Amino acid sequence: MFRAILLEKDDQGFRAGLTELDEARLPEADVLLAVEASTLNYKDALALTHRSPVVRLWPMVPGIDGAGTVLHSAHPDWQPGDRVVLNGWGVGETHWGCLAERARLKGEWLVRLPEAFTARQAMAIGTAGYTAMLCVMALEDHGVTPGSGEVLVTGATGGVGSVAVALLARLGYTVVAATGKAAEADYLQALGAASVLDRAGLMAPGKPLQKERWAGVVDTLGGVALANACAQTRYGGTVAACGLAASMDLPTTVAPFILRGVTLAGVDSVMAPRAKRERAWARLARDLDPALLARMTDEIPLGEAVFERAAAIMAGGFRGRTVVGIA
Ligand code: NDP
Repeated sequence: MFRAILLEKDDQGFRAGLTELDEARLPEADVLLAVEASTLNYKDALALTHRSPVVRLWPMVPGIDGAGTVLHSAHPDWQPGDRVVLNGWGVGETHWGCLAERARLKGEWLVRLPEAFTARQAMAIGTAGYTAMLCVMALEDHGVTPGSGEVLVTGATGGVGSVAVALLARLGYTVVAATGKAAEADYLQALGAASVLDRAGLMAPGKPLQKERWAGVVDTLGGVALANACAQTRYGGTVAACGLAASMDLPTTVAPFILRGVTLAGVDSVMAPRAKRERAWARLARDLDPALLARMTDEIPLGEAVFERAAAIMAGGFRGRTVVGIA
């Protein structure tokens, strides 16, 4: 038996709670993992609060991220005792996830835990931090360098935003952190933001082309904020779009793209190929300051606190990253 969060939906409606499950109920896959830590991302909060149709198989053990030790493997790449990290691949959506003491996962989904990180640190990073790294890599791949000019990060106090600010600042970029939480300016500056911008200025519809300011953007909001970010991006700049915390829409025109050569670079973490994940995790081990990671992270146990934190994340009032300690 193992402890797990279980989400159920049937004729009686939606139910969620901590329960004990038989290992025989775990889905088919070639690696059995003893989960040491998991985390709560925005998508986990959506699933736990049943706010949007993240879960597509019922009942579901949520948890899109996990880190721990291989207990059993029928996959050639993994042996018992190997330390691994899992992000995405539909885990916690269509395949039982990692808010549990055990997970059975496909070996091809796993990445070796970098030696620089404990399982808890890997989960402090989680999909949010790994996505922030993918965004930084997208900017770099499109030629945005620290010398190019200011880089805007939206949703800056969130998980993706906090890690993006810390990474970009450490790499030498001049980071402008846009937030709706004026009281968190000190937090963002401690992570390395050169200045803090009131999110409200990005949330009102603006002209198709605005004063050129950003050499690069990491956008977690979507909607009008992303449209304004594109309209304010300098000639030849790049906007890495990874989120929809404000909106799924994109009410923009083609003007920034055809008149300023702006690149809108889409960033997906869920189905990203393994080589790209390994590159991102190696870069995180090199470029993320562990002291800043600790500063943005808070740990909760597997239990009722998971649901309380998910509600806080959905209310947009939580800052940074959550680790769910499991073993
Ligand atoms: P968090 O909840 O940690 O952070 C989101 C931040 O966005 C908040 O802290 C807040 O920042 C801001 N925000 C929240 N609600 C609103 C709102 N209604 N309007 C405007 N701003 C808002 O989420 P994550 O950082 O984990 O994820 C951010 C986004 O990125 C989500 O949409 C998530 O689904 C997406 N994502 C996508 C991935 C991919 O593979 N493409 C992977 C990971 C995440 P502040 O108060 O500082 O402005």
